[in-house]
Amino acid sequence: MAKDVTAEDLVAVLAQHERFVLVSHLRPDGDAIGSMLGLGLMLEAMGKEVVYLNEDGVPGNLAFLDAGQRVRRSREVKVLDCDVFIALDTANQERLGDTALARKPEKALGVTIDHHITNERYGDLVWVDDQAPATAQMVWELAKAGGWEIPAEARTALYVGASTDTGSFQYANTTARTHEMAADLLAAGLDVAEVNRLTYHNFPYRRVQLLTSLLATLQRSDDGRLAWWSLTLAMKKEAGYQPGDSEGLVDVMRGIDEVVACVFFEEISDGTIRVSMRSKDASVNVSEVCGSFGGGGHILAAGARLEGPLEEARQRVLAELGRAAA
Ligand code: 5GP
Ligand code: MN
Repeated sequence: MAKDVTAEDLVAVLAQHERFVLVSHLRPDGDAIGSMLGLGLMLEAMGKEVVYLNEDGVPGNLAFLDAGQRVRRSREVKVLDCDVFIALDTANQERLGDTALARKPEKALGVTIDHHITNERYGDLVWVDDQAPATAQMVWELAKAGGWEIPAEARTALYVGASTDTGSFQYANTTARTHEMAADLLAAGLDVAEVNRLTYHNFPYRRVQLLTSLLATLQRSDDGRLAWWSLTLAMKKEAGYQPGDSEGLVDVMRGIDEVVACVFFEEISDGTIRVSMRSKDASVNVSEVCGSFGGGGHILAAGARLEGPLEEARQRVLAELGRAAA
């Protein structure tokens, strides 16, 4: 049975163990990798042993966070022994990926640290704060509660986690506490210009080519309140698409003045369709819309996976979103 715990409880529990495995969700974003590395590097600074796992590994756009190449693809790791298995930034076990999940030793204590409103409270000890803008901010709260040292690499990881999940401290989920965290990390020596350059101004040219082809597929509802575009397998092939290339491009649609909600449809090689949805109005809850297709996330940012083909998935999703936005 999962037990809800606080940051203070977790600080005490983590202190009592020595060997940790940290995992975050498949197709990881800045918060998934940032919160995992941030926590792990602090545990390592305390002399603990940490293994970092991700089903898909670190995408190219986030490689700078993991200069030491600590994060391993779960399929490359055969057997694991640990005392504590911590899932970060991941709403349900399935989103850890089958292989990552299978790496959990049966006797290991399962800990869940997450900020998704749709978190399913799996594991033995669960700390979910759906008001936190990023799991990275929760990890920083752990550091503060425990009086932990935050090594330089962990500072960068936590800052990037919070920055990417708040749209560079722009979205409504950004709180005074988020800025306190940023101030704390800056005061400790974080190079804000360099970290932001690496996070936002360091993309390969093919990302812009990808954007060009996406813009050619851009469509809007008659009233202009909904916008969507689609990435097919053929487009990916042409652009030489690599994981992470499309991260954040959805902001181009969100930036249109009339747009209230927008959708990024992406054809995946296994024939399923990945949906990435954004809203600018809390009354249009995209977590609920994605939830009706087995996905989830946050009120203003959510996702799901549907059966193909693309055109059918698009019609189903837009019909549901149209109702939510009516
Ligand atoms: P993104 O659109 O950037 O991939 O994801 C936006 C938010 O929705 C993230 O917090 C992400 O974890 C969540 N999310 C994306 N796809 C899925 C999904 O298939 N299932 C669930 N439960 N959440 C998702
Ligand atoms: Mn997150």
